[in-house]
Amino acid sequence: DLASLMNVSVNQVISACMSMGMFVSINQRLDAETITIIADEFGYEVEFYKAEDEMQQAEIVEDSEEDLVPRAPIVTIMGHVDHGKTSLLDYIRKTRVTEGEAGGITQHIGAYEVETDTGKKITFLDTPGHEAFTAMRARGAKATDVVIVVVAADDSVMPQTKEAINHAQVAGVPIIIAINKVDKPTANPDRIREQLAGINILVEEWGGKYQSEEVSAKSGQGISELLEKVLLEAELLDLKANPDKPAVGTILEASLDKGRGYLATMLVQGGTLRIGDVLLAGSHYGRVKAMYDHRGGRMKEAGPSVPVQVLGLDGAPQAGDIAKVYESDREARDIATRREQILREQSVRTRKHITLDEIGRRLAIGSFKELNVIVKADFDGSVEALSDSLLKLSTEEIQVNIIHKAVGQISEADVMLASTADAIIVGFQVRPSVNARKLAENEEIEIRLYSVIYDAINEIKDAMEGMLAPKV
Ligand code: GDP
Repeated sequence: DLASLMNVSVNQVISACMSMGMFVSINQRLDAETITIIADEFGYEVEFYKAEDEMQQAEIVEDSEEDLVPRAPIVTIMGHVDHGKTSLLDYIRKTRVTEGEAGGITQHIGAYEVETDTGKKITFLDTPGHEAFTAMRARGAKATDVVIVVVAADDSVMPQTKEAINHAQVAGVPIIIAINKVDKPTANPDRIREQLAGINILVEEWGGKYQSEEVSAKSGQGISELLEKVLLEAELLDLKANPDKPAVGTILEASLDKGRGYLATMLVQGGTLRIGDVLLAGSHYGRVKAMYDHRGGRMKEAGPSVPVQVLGLDGAPQAGDIAKVYESDREARDIATRREQILREQSVRTRKHITLDEIGRRLAIGSFKELNVIVKADFDGSVEALSDSLLKLSTEEIQVNIIHKAVGQISEADVMLASTADAIIVGFQVRPSVNARKLAENEEIEIRLYSVIYDAINEIKDAMEGMLAPKV
């Protein structure tokens, strides 16, 4: 590939490698540094693209102010398990869904649109929780304008409550607190407000900046008010989009329907999606054959903030993929093919287990954040000393995790664990059993053996710094 990019023969590249003391075969993968040096030999400069950027590339077309019109806010509900996220979503869906042409059965398509008492619209993403939200953000998708954090009034501010607040804050998305289950005799909303104050979330009633509402997903109390507060927050955000351009948005979920084919829910964020459009999402594309709302009703077009289930893609894109309409079928197909190649390449890379040498390359493709380590040693004292020192090697970029540590020989079980967790094994004054060694060879698990703790720490530190070096 490198040879053809530079318009030289493969033999020339191989001999350039040999002159650097590297004996390579024709289909050997070269690391980033080698590629840079070889390219330089032939007078080329190398630019590396992050695969993620290529996958999520959506040209940012600035809309001019006069094309922008207000759009509905998009809301995600988060909170601790059992505090009532699903109940709230269900209640709102049951009571607020706009009357459509077709009164089909409610289906879960990943989002739904509701109308408030004042006739305004709100779009709810109906995969509650911060995991989905954070996974989408990690992929670069920004599909939430307002987060509702639910806290049960008969319980307390819980770890996942804090996590939800934290994730919303990190993403810079405004939070509204819904104090739920106020119909229960044991409900104590004041205690919740107090606990929230304890983590710096001061609600408006207490002079803070966070809107909150006491609600019941059972009786419906406070829900109209909660929705009005969402609209208020949305007004402050001045949410707008241009409906008069080819659609662009985010994939919320996708599935394969045996009778119809691939169905993908797209949240339109700009432009308008219409039947017949050529849509590209992740590495899949196709002409939009049909569009449905969350009740299975057919739609002809979908504008900004509208979630729509699309039939016509040639596969199932991933949640968080950017979806975009292209003018030409051919352009969409070319991009889809290129992304398909990248995905294949990435899966080849990730199939290989981590080694100290591999760290640098993974970091270069932007996929390395954690180094998992299994520590085995001859004495408890050395297990602890080594583990502690390795943990301390953690930096802001790379977290070292000791996923298992114990006294004794390196066993087959250790290798299995390393294989599932993609870890390296560090042995101090111990050796692997014969079977463990064989298994490690088959599974390509790296086992590093040391008799001096200092050497172990230094080698791993070097590897981690090696991967940090290119960033400078
Ligand atoms: P999630 O895990 O946050 O999605 O919570 P669920 O919506 O599944 O609710 C957990 C439990 O609390 C269920 O048994 C609900 O029926 C109940 N629940 C949820 N909201 C309310 C409420 O406002 N009042 C009462 N009494 N029960 C509720």
